Amino acid sequence: MKRLLIIGCGGVASVAIHKCCQNSNVFEEICIASRTRSKCDALRDRLKGTTKTRITTAQVDANDTRALIALIEHEQPQVVLNLALPYQDLTIMDACLACRVHYIDTANYEPENTAKFEYRWQWAYRERFEAAGITALLGSGFDPGVTSVFSAYALKHHFDEINTIDILDCNAGDHGYPFATNFNPEINIREVSAKGSYWQDGHWVETEPMEIKRVYDFPEIGPRNMYLLHHEEIESLALNIPGIQRIRFFMTFGQSYLTHLKCLENVGMTSIKPVMYEGRPIVPLQFLKAVLPDPSSLGPRTKGKTNIGCIFQGKKNGKSKSYYLYNVCDHEACYREVGSQAVAYTTGVPAMIGATMVMTGKWLKPGVHNIEEFDPDPFMDALNQFGLPWQESFTPVLVE
Ligand code: NDP
Repeated sequence: MKRLLIIGCGGVASVAIHKCCQNSNVFEEICIASRTRSKCDALRDRLKGTTKTRITTAQVDANDTRALIALIEHEQPQVVLNLALPYQDLTIMDACLACRVHYIDTANYEPENTAKFEYRWQWAYRERFEAAGITALLGSGFDPGVTSVFSAYALKHHFDEINTIDILDCNAGDHGYPFATNFNPEINIREVSAKGSYWQDGHWVETEPMEIKRVYDFPEIGPRNMYLLHHEEIESLALNIPGIQRIRFFMTFGQSYLTHLKCLENVGMTSIKPVMYEGRPIVPLQFLKAVLPDPSSLGPRTKGKTNIGCIFQGKKNGKSKSYYLYNVCDHEACYREVGSQAVAYTTGVPAMIGATMVMTGKWLKPGVHNIEEFDPDPFMDALNQFGLPWQESFTPVLVE
């Protein structure tokens, strides 16, 4: 029996699980295990009668390696798909190593008490995964994930050498709230309030948060303000794309979001340092998360589209060339299909596709690997098949 264990049952996991259920030939059995078991049970009950995939559920604290090992030994999956939070990446990797089971995630490790995500902690597992004969596939969401597969595809089919990559993430969805985040608020706010950075000629260039702004006219959306952020796929693409000179990541934000964020920062609500409140320590950002709308409640209210993709510049047969690969996703269509908005959809679908690649043996390579290190072609075909069709342009407008 082909069996997948999914850890976490939030916005992204819900989409990935719906999608696994549409692909029952690969996912004959799945176990959903998370901190709050009632959420896993509710999702299993919603899917009952709609799929051939057999679903079981379990409770687990993914910060506890021993509990994870006991769960894996009981469930006997071929693959563990980590859709909990970045804080749990290492404990889940430890458990996979102990049980010799393949590992997949969508976000790189970040210690809870330092808002700094980077790959070095997970790359330190390379030799151990290799020796155990198991594969860790890192970053199988949209960005990182699809943007990294786009880069591998562009290199394989369209360039002899890629010199620059601009990753553009536009969410033009409107949920009607003055301020809300489209995925876990704590992780989202840590990411966007950090300093920006980009890769240039072999080193990082750091910027102040939101210091670099551009306007881009996105296909099927129109002109939007976008801001340069640090983003994790830059770190691995800088290693894995030979000849690369510059990689930048831009994300769009509306004025209401930025004004609220600035105000929350100014009053200390985005801090991750504990403060004493009524005799006990609380983390302001965790408290803020508790009062903000739950991203999984945004689905029925969000209208509009996302457009995420990469613009490449480089050389083919001695000639300069530019190429734009992107996906446009409609919030309301996602909600009709799986009951979630497009940000969860665009992450959950590639998580399921990454799990398919490993489950079916198409992408098995003992060690710890970023997603662009694998053959992009079967993944690109699966994007078209499972709801994230991609489009291309050979004459894109470039970002200045
Ligand atoms: P949610 O907060 O909606 O879901 C997280 C889930 O993990 C919840 O079910 C939560 O349980 C569970 N969880 C948290 N801590 C533990 C623990 N200690 N033990 C067991 N379960 C735990 O987050 P999202 O679904 O929005 O995001 C999931 C992941 O996807 C994150 O790592 C995020 O960074 C990543 N992501 C990646 C993107 C990409 O493109 N690559 C884009 C967007 C997100 P409970 O229900 O009890 O809270």
